[in-house]
Order: sequence, then structure tokens, then C-alpha cells
Amino acid sequence: MNKIYLDNASTTAINSEVMAEMMPYFNSVYGNASSLHSFGRDAKAAVETARERIAKAIGCLPSEIYFTSGATESNNWALRGLAYANAGKGKHIITSKIEHPSVLETCRQLEKEGFTVTYLDVDKYGLVRLDKLLHNIDQDTILISIMAANNEVGTIQNIQAISNIAKEKGVIFHTDATQAIGSVNINAKEMGIDAMSFSSHKLYGPKGVGALYVRNGVMIDKFMNGGEQEKNLRAGTLNTPAIVGFGKAVEIACRDIIANAKKMSNLRNYFIKEVMNRIDTTFLNGHPIQRLPNNINMSFGQIEGESVMFMLDMEGIAVSTGSACSSGVTEPPYVLEAMGVSPDLQKGAVRFTLSKSTTKEEIDTTIDELEKIVKKLRKISPITKAQVGKMKK
Ligand SMILES: *Cc1c(COP(=O)(O)O)cnc(C)c1O
Repeated sequence: MNKIYLDNASTTAINSEVMAEMMPYFNSVYGNASSLHSFGRDAKAAVETARERIAKAIGCLPSEIYFTSGATESNNWALRGLAYANAGKGKHIITSKIEHPSVLETCRQLEKEGFTVTYLDVDKYGLVRLDKLLHNIDQDTILISIMAANNEVGTIQNIQAISNIAKEKGVIFHTDATQAIGSVNINAKEMGIDAMSFSSHKLYGPKGVGALYVRNGVMIDKFMNGGEQEKNLRAGTLNTPAIVGFGKAVEIACRDIIANAKKMSNLRNYFIKEVMNRIDTTFLNGHPIQRLPNNINMSFGQIEGESVMFMLDMEGIAVSTGSACSSGVTEPPYVLEAMGVSPDLQKGAVRFTLSKSTTKEEIDTTIDELEKIVKKLRKISPITKAQVGKMKK
């Protein structure tokens, strides 16, 4: 069976060009990048090349890039580090209800430590309302953290407008751009972004490496204690092979951004149109246009997304529901809930995320299987079509 992978928002396959670039740094150029001898200097040179590539791709200075273990760490560090370093000015943070758990959980922790956090509502498309943002900024506000694009429903925020508001009010602006880099044009300097988290494995690079961009002049506290790596702000021996791969992956992703986005959004639009035509009582979640080129999130009335996911898996097709956490316990899909999707349609949601290598054939096979599965599940569903109609917002 030829398996089909449509869960690229969870992670991607590594690009072969990226892997080739990494190989020498495992057992040939294996020095510690902090060592002063030639082995160390060679590793350090490779790390600095990666830093320059990333800086160029996202429009900042190399000295503004700090390597981390991934976007989870970058988000933890950004929220804490910026909050602690600027606590003298105020203790209020603004974020949204649809952020990644690494932002939301860190905010909840900061609340326990005496900070106050406003979790902004979003509209039915998943967009943060700018008037609400403006309305919630006060004298005590030190930080706004709003993601550039959502990992569940693919909605792309009005980052430039949010950044402008932050600037006007003199508040630091951090964005989790993990899903956006390589899909949406982002220039940190031009857009006035103060801090930005992103990760390698979401853009065809290796897992376990990411970065935090912090604009020079923005105060941030140290996160990891230990050695003096990364300008004494993030201790720990640098993962040279991963960083080398990450640098190459970002370079390629930003170089090919237009072609990849065009290819994936064509397949995405085709998928949505076909599924809407062939399967009734189906709804698209997220913004119809302002969405990631590879993201499809649909709710199927009368049935559970999780059943669809398991049955597609039996056919070798990998998708996600976004409602199951790693322990396998079902959690409420908070992103859809914040968008005002009815509880039944929250349960019926399935996420399909394409890669730059996804083919039309794979999409057609998936649509065929999906149609069969939804029909089968609806035959045995206790919920009727009429009931779904009433629940629809
Ligand atoms: C995947 C993801 C993260 C976490 O990234 P890791 O590198 O896996 O820790 C954070 N934010 C968003 C929006 C993501 O999609």
C-alpha cells in the first residue's frame, strides 16, 4: 500500500538537500562550536553560516537569531524572558485564545507568578479583532504575543496591523511564526516585529532545532543556565548538524515560497471544492482566503473526526483531528471553540495538511476514501442531518 501523509502541520519529511548538507557535521566536523581549537572553529563557522542564511531569509541581522531546541522552547523563552526583563514597566500580557499550547501554558504559569494575561477572542474565521486588541492595551501592558498563522485551522493573522498597533502603543510584539515561515512572506525588520519563534521540522528541516529572533535593543532575560553560548542568553552545546540543516531548510523554504504556495493552494482549493460537492453537510473551518496554502480543516456533520482519522489511517492515509493530546485523551478542540464552532461540528473536524511534494493523485485517492468513510459512518450515526442544520451557527 502506498501511504499518503497529510499531516504536514505536525511535522514534515526532511529535504534531501538539507540532509546532505548535515551529514559531515555528525562525524567529520564534530567539534564543539564553543571550543577554541580548529575542530571547534570549523563547527562554529558552520553555525554562523546557518545563522546568516536564516537572518537573510527572515529579514534581520545574524546577531538577532538565537538557536533553541524548537518553537516550544522559543515560545517558553520569549514569553518568560520578555515578561521578566520588562516587569519593571508593567505586568500585563495580551495573547489570543487560539495560540499553541507552548504559549498558552506559559501564560498560565506567568499568571501564577503575578502577571495578568488577556486572552483575546477571535472571530468565526479565527482572526484576532484589532479593535479588541487596541481596547485591551493599557498603561500596564508590556507584551503582545499573537501567532502569525494558526496550526489547526490555518488562519493567517494581520501581523503587520498588529505590529503597527504594538509599535504605536510602545508594547513589545512577539509572534509565533512556526507555521508561517516558508508559507507567508515575513520580513522581521520591515514588519517591525520585536521577537519571533519558529522551528526547523515544520519546513522540511530536522527535528529538535528552532530559533528565537529578538530584535537588538529589546530586553530579554536568560532562559537556560549554564555555559555562555548564544551571547550568554541560551546555555547548552549547540547542535551543529541540526543547526546546519535548519539553516539550509529555511533558505530553501523562503527561496521557493511562491512556487510552493501556488502549487499547494491549487491542490487545497481543488480538495475543498471536490469535498464540498461530493459530501453534503460539510463545512470549512478557518478563513476561506487568508489561510495557509497547505491547510484544509473541515467539519463533517453527524460524525466524529476521530473516527474518520482512524478509518483513513487503516487505508494508509495520515490526517489529524487536533483534538487528541499526546496521551490519547480527548481534549476539547479549543481553537474551534474560540471560533464559535458548535460542539458537534468541533467533534466532526478533520485537518488535512499538504506538503510541497503532495500530488494530485494522492489528493484524489484521499477524497475517494473520505467520501466512502463519511457515508459509512453516517449510516451508523445517531445524529441526524436535520439536527446538524439546527446546530450550525
Ligand atoms: C509545531 C508548532 C510549535 C512547536 O514547535 P516544536 O518545534 O515542535 O516545539 C509551536 N507553534 C506552532 C504554531 C506550531 O505549529
